[in-house]
Formats: sequence, C-alpha cells, structure tokens
Amino acid sequence: MSFAELNLIPELQRAVADEGYTEPTPIQAKAIPAVLERRDIMGCAQTGTGKTAGFTLPMLQLLAPYANSSPSPARHPVRALVLTPTRELAAQVSDSVKAYGKFMKLRSTVVYGGVDMQPQTKALREGIEILVATPGRLLDHVQQKSVALGQVEILILDEADRMLDMGFLPDIRRILALLPAQRQSLLFSATFSDEIKKLANQMLRNPTLIEVARRNAPADLVKHQVYEVQALRKRALLVQLIRSRDMKQVLVFLRMKRDCNKLARELVRDGINATAIHSDRTQAEREQALTDFKEGRATVLVATDIAARGIDIEELPFVINYELPYTPEDYVHRIGRTGRAGMPGEAISLVCPDEHRLLADIEKLLKRAIPRETAGESSDERPRRSRPEEREPRDEAPKRHSSTPPPAPRPMVAADGFDFNKPYQPSTAAAERVAAPPPPRLRSTRPTAALLGGLLGKDKK
Ligand code: AMP
Repeated sequence: MSFAELNLIPELQRAVADEGYTEPTPIQAKAIPAVLERRDIMGCAQTGTGKTAGFTLPMLQLLAPYANSSPSPARHPVRALVLTPTRELAAQVSDSVKAYGKFMKLRSTVVYGGVDMQPQTKALREGIEILVATPGRLLDHVQQKSVALGQVEILILDEADRMLDMGFLPDIRRILALLPAQRQSLLFSATFSDEIKKLANQMLRNPTLIEVARRNAPADLVKHQVYEVQALRKRALLVQLIRSRDMKQVLVFLRMKRDCNKLARELVRDGINATAIHSDRTQAEREQALTDFKEGRATVLVATDIAARGIDIEELPFVINYELPYTPEDYVHRIGRTGRAGMPGEAISLVCPDEHRLLADIEKLLKRAIPRETAGESSDERPRRSRPEEREPRDEAPKRHSSTPPPAPRPMVAADGFDFNKPYQPSTAAAERVAAPPPPRLRSTRPTAALLGGLLGKDKK
C-alpha cells in the first residue's frame, strides 16, 4: 500500500516522501481513510507506531481548503486543536505538523507551560489554523483571550491515558466546553481504563475503533539485566558500569525529582558528564539538558518517569534503572526508550533488597525472569549466565547471522519465586493496563515493513 492509494493530496505525498516514508504504517493505513471520511476515532496505539502522521496527515488534508496566505488574523482561526500531556510531546507533534504541512499554506503553532507566554501570545494573535497545546497553558491563553476556540472543527487528544494520569481531566473538560459541539474528535491512548472509556463516550460520536498490535515486545529488542546491590553501593556501581563498559549515552531513571540533580552533581564529581531533566526545571533547562545529551556533551541524563515521557532519542543504547519504578508499567515505558528503531538496547536495573517486591512485579508483567549479574565482576570476567545472543557486543548485533547459537531457555523463576511455567493470571487491573513498552521509534530511512514487523496482518481485532 502506498500513500497515494490512501488518496493523500500531492502536497502531503511529497512531504512524506521527503521524510523518507515509503509506505504507511498499519495505524496510518487504518486511520487516514477514516479521518478523511470525517469519522470520530478511538485509537489504541502507542508511540512509535506512526500514530502522529496517522492523525496529522488527514487533518492537514481536511484543512487544505482553508489554506491561504492572507496576513489578516481573521483569515486564520484555529480549526484543529491537538492536546498532548507533556511539553516534549507537544513540541514533537508540532514539528510533525510543520514537516508534513510544509507544502501547504496552513499555519500552526505550539503552546506549553514553563516558558514565556509572550511569544506564544504573539503567534496566536497572528492567527493559526492548527494549534498543538498542553491543557494548562492552553487554558491560560484562553483566559487571556489570546485564542478563541469557537471555530475548531477537529479535536485530537494524544496520549489521553497519560493526560488522565497527570490529572488533566478537569482541564480537558473545561476545554471541551469551549469547543463547538459539531466537530470531529480523535482520541488516542495506549491503554483503555474505565476512565478513558468514559471520556471517549462523552466526546466521541459513533467512533471507529482502531487498534494496532504493539510492536516488538521488550524482550525481543532489549537485553534486560539486574545487578543486585546494596542501596549505598549503587552510585559506585553506576560509575563502574559506565566506565568499564565505555557507555557513551545512558539514560538513568530515578523516582524522585529532588534526587535527580543530586545524582547528576555527584556523577560530575566522579568525573562523568551528567545532567538532569525533571519537572522542576524550567523548560529552557530541560531543553538544554536534552540537547547536551543528544549531542554527546553529557554522557548521562538523569530523569524521572514523567520528565522522560516524550523524549525521542534514536538508538539510545542504555537505560539504567538506578531505582525501580513503583509500577511495573513504568519499567516498560522506561525501557521503551532503548531498543528503538529495531536496534538492540540494554536495560540495566540496580536493585537493592528493598526493591525485590518491585522486581517481582516487573518480571510478572514481562512474563520472564530477568538475568542477574553480580556487582564487582567486569563484563569480560563474567561467567556465561545470560542468553548467548545477549552476550554479543552491541556493534556486532545487527550483523547477526544464522550461525548464531539458538537462544537458551528463558529463566523461569521470578525474584519472589513466582514460577513462569505456570499460566500467569494477571489481576483485572493489570490486564487492562499496558503489557508492553512504547514501541521503538521508527527511523524514517528504514523500510517500514521491516520496522513494523509486518504488523498489519497481526493487528488485534
Ligand atoms: P510516532 O508513533 O508518531 O511517534 O512515530 C514514530 C516514528 O515513526 C517517527 O520518528 C516518525 O518519523 C516515524 N514514521 C512515521 N510514519 C512512518 C512511515 N510511514 N514510515 C517510516 N517511518 C515512519
């Protein structure tokens, strides 16, 4: 299937070709025709499936008749509103809108909190057809009357589950009340809790349900390891791992934002370039930290779960859980930061005795035990205890060929003695929640079919 077969207008076909996309991803193949038919959509899809283009491309096409280059703000009312939970995701969606819409005379901007409102106000007052926003800052602008939403025709809620997790429901309701009742609404969510279903019932009319299977499960792309270590020894072990394995780019997760700066400072004292990203830092500081990390000036980025959402770093080789998260799903989100674009990645967890319960929950969610490593052994001295293919050096992994020995059986007993040979019975709540990580981001230069593992045929019904 090609983008032309989806009846995309030539301006959009050119833009996707410029991005290097050769064929639509499964969610795009399903969502684009439905959105073009002006249907409401309930999309169950995670980041990395190509969902942004799945809603942005048809949105741009529906707005094409409004394209104009008049300088008058009155000729550019907001026609489409995209709400996202985080600033980082808002910025990414906005970049996609600009990239896919670059051959169209439609204006767009993005507003999110933590930065000066003035430039945002100016852009809004000049008039824009497409507005990407986080809910709180959007309401600030509504209050200051820098934006009117009375002509919105298309509303998109991206990562709706995250928005609810972050307490945005009241803000979303306020925003819904400002929109025309007659509109097209699209809701995307990785998980479907009762709350999401309720919201969907309220805001969607006879929606088309679009589900795409998760991309590769975490175990397929990511090598998981656990180092059992006393809490007080964690920092020394982290430094040792970074040095002995010559890690050049490591995302380190902590639970509390107040600990992030401290660890980053201590690592710098240990001679390792480190920076921190968490929600107490200003937007400018967060962007600087991310840029330093992406461009290699910082080896380590210390982050909380919330701050790391929406971070898109291609081919991030290492994620280290300095502390395990309280919910196993967050582990899956964390490790989804590596193993992207089909590249192998490593997820290393430093686990102290207090965290064994959390580890057991993670292993149950993954339905496998994670191999244990012992602190103090250098990687060269380690006995062979993990799967043979897991021991390949990173740079050789893509060259793997048929002489690679077959994988040894997975460890079958979790930290708390849970036996994986027995059928796993998730709790009802757990079963409702996500059981796999946000899938790897796709690299636009790679063939889509290979990246998506031919998921089209495997989509959940
Ligand atoms: P998303 O799930 O929207 O965050 O997209 C994940 C990644 O997939 C982004 O880096 C996109 O540039 C890329 N992508 C989206 N659509 C395609 C496509 N049809 N072919 C190849 N890559 C794509």
